[in-house]
Amino acid sequence: MTLTDLRDAGTGVGTRLDAFDAVDKDASYGMQLRQVREAAEVFRRDLLATGAPSSVTTKDLVTLPYPVRFGLWRAALTPSPYLSITNRMLVIRWVDAGRTRTLVFEPSDHERGEYTPYFARMNAHTPARLQSRVVTRHATVLENLGGLGIAPEEVDYLAFDHLHTQDVRRWVGTSTTEAAFPNAKLLVQRKELEAMADLHPLQRQWYQPDTYTDLIVDRLIALDGDVLIGPGVALVATPGHALGNQSLILHTSDGIWAVSENALAAECLVPEHSRIPGVAKSARTWEREVVLNSNTPEALADQYNSLVKEKALADRSQRDSRFPQFLPSSELTPSPYFPGTKPTFVQGSITHRSG
Ligand SMILES: [Zn+2]
Repeated sequence: MTLTDLRDAGTGVGTRLDAFDAVDKDASYGMQLRQVREAAEVFRRDLLATGAPSSVTTKDLVTLPYPVRFGLWRAALTPSPYLSITNRMLVIRWVDAGRTRTLVFEPSDHERGEYTPYFARMNAHTPARLQSRVVTRHATVLENLGGLGIAPEEVDYLAFDHLHTQDVRRWVGTSTTEAAFPNAKLLVQRKELEAMADLHPLQRQWYQPDTYTDLIVDRLIALDGDVLIGPGVALVATPGHALGNQSLILHTSDGIWAVSENALAAECLVPEHSRIPGVAKSARTWEREVVLNSNTPEALADQYNSLVKEKALADRSQRDSRFPQFLPSSELTPSPYFPGTKPTFVQGSITHRSG
């Protein structure tokens, strides 16, 4: 097995959703943006017609520092070099032909994520005393699932927004080690596997490609674009942050949610409502309607259009209608150590139970 072999991972899960085929990928970025907004209306109708999952639960994994210059890209005024983010996992369940199906989205193995070149370097330069103050490990993926009464054997699918920092060997096993999730398949955009097989220098700091070389190819399912995985549960291609980026789009009792790492806070999709110093003014000055989480500058306009796509898909928050139902899977979290980065509005979680 090599990384190149992974690109041949099987397909065959879910149903392809074609609303965004109307976006012409060869058109100008400005034209694509207009087409994205129109196609989002069609996609929303298509998704709503498929029903809703039986339950959606959010669980915190780890809170840790992240550079302001990436997370609130060129918008925040704070002198603090870091802000605080909380990584979350989502558990989505639905019934298919009488059998409960379980998808775990963003099950970051945060212990092994620390070996990512960028984070390994950052940790090496952070004194342990400071680390213990700014890093909070809430629970591991398996502890969170245990708390929900879900056995690892019950998990059918794992998926990430993209594979930056991820080492999935513990979850899906390798040719020589057992899988913690013996029945789960990893759903990943084929473009992400292609990128990882041949990383560009602008991307290399964020991946751990060596950890993918001894995976078993049958444990992966490659997706080509937008796919309906279960009723009201879709993975949608949102390229930019990574070229094989995908967002989770969910139909719940509160309407439609978009979940990804393309932005760190719901207010980044409506920066005019942000009280983070600098953000609203920067968006106004530069005539930007969204503030990206950008650590990989190779495809900024694609990422911008992808975030607008999520904004167009999501309904407005039931708690405060100024903000879209965008759940950042790594969400900006208030921290006394990082002044000038306090979010105006925190989503915190999605809770949904049908019937
Ligand atoms: Zn990333």
